[in-house]
Amino acid sequence: MIGSSVVFRARSWTVLLLGSLTIASPAAFAADCPGHPDALGTSRTLVVDPHEHPRIGTMQYRETLPLRDHEVVLTFDDGPLPKYSNQVLQILAGECIKATFFIIGQQAKANPEGVRKLVAAGHTVGTHSMTHPLTMDRMPIDKAEAEINGGIEWTSAAMTDPSKLAPFFRIPGLMRADGVENYLISRGIQVWSADFPADDWRHVSPDRVYQLAIQRLEAKGKGILLLHDIQPRTVAALPKIIRDLKARGYRIVHVVPATADQPATPTTPVEWLLHPPTETTPIARWPQVPNFVFAQTATLPAPGLADLNAETAHQPRVLPRKTMAQADIASTLPAPGRDLFAIPEGSVEVLLSTTLSRRAATRLAMAAETPHAGKGKAGRIQARRTAASSAPKHATQAKGTASRPTRLATSLKKRA
Ligand SMILES: [Zn+2]
Repeated sequence: MIGSSVVFRARSWTVLLLGSLTIASPAAFAADCPGHPDALGTSRTLVVDPHEHPRIGTMQYRETLPLRDHEVVLTFDDGPLPKYSNQVLQILAGECIKATFFIIGQQAKANPEGVRKLVAAGHTVGTHSMTHPLTMDRMPIDKAEAEINGGIEWTSAAMTDPSKLAPFFRIPGLMRADGVENYLISRGIQVWSADFPADDWRHVSPDRVYQLAIQRLEAKGKGILLLHDIQPRTVAALPKIIRDLKARGYRIVHVVPATADQPATPTTPVEWLLHPPTETTPIARWPQVPNFVFAQTATLPAPGLADLNAETAHQPRVLPRKTMAQADIASTLPAPGRDLFAIPEGSVEVLLSTTLSRRAATRLAMAAETPHAGKGKAGRIQARRTAASSAPKHATQAKGTASRPTRLATSLKKRA
């Protein structure tokens, strides 16, 4: 209390300086990670209210978490699966990183201890359905509700304190549907998409997972990274991802839901947009959508191409708008007449002037000549052609085959 009164009495520039030192100093994060002086750490906790921002993640939605530049939120889906989830937990513990886990009900039922470990380590735990169906975009709503509720039931049943379950849900395979989202929102549950995946469910190397995670993060500058704690390649890639995040100056943000005791972090609406529009950049950027293709549909529950259909309701807002001038041009310019594009039937001259290859044009021209072959000029051309084709290749080239169609066209014009 004494310290704070001193700061308040100090001149404003001193306050600013102290503030910026506190935010920028990485030593402060490492100090929070005893025994791991080089840890990346968790820079801050962001408290969010699902009621205020029900859908997040620019892979599908307009809004995403109100992160500052170079802030990252790590998320892990589909666990817990002891063999790999425990390794992920260990890696995160060694870096003092807090993440968000989206649990499958069946996994929680089979490995309740795995859920308790996540809670004990201080991570945020949300849910990811009961059986991970990749059809929530088209299944009857009562079935979708049963999937949602089953996942919540078994995940909270695995917890010593069920109130630790966050009202966060990620739709399996990101197969969103209005009905599913509306049901979740009506229950005060926040729908989490992501800002970028690292394709760790596909048959790619751990190094590729690392590269994609960093490349896609660098492209957006901040955001929610989608990973899976049930994949050996994710376990292998994670230490390198974390080391590189630190080297590049990224900071980890831990997200928790608002409660009666812990109100939401104050934010402004514009902070929930990845790239808020500014006066100098009137045209919003279209979010980069990674190629999301299944490699292992049978064994690896994960997003598919259809996931990436950005919510149609939001699309017009990010597409550049037509100016009044553009609209006027469209209505005043006359449409070209049909006959402008018509090609007269059998017109070899026209064909020769189009993109047809010279060889094809020549064949057409010769066919037109056939009835008169052996007589007059056309006959002479036929004879020349026969001689040319039987001549050595270099001789044909030397004579210049390119000039022949032109001569043919001229002769045909004279006949017309
Ligand atoms: Zn999943």
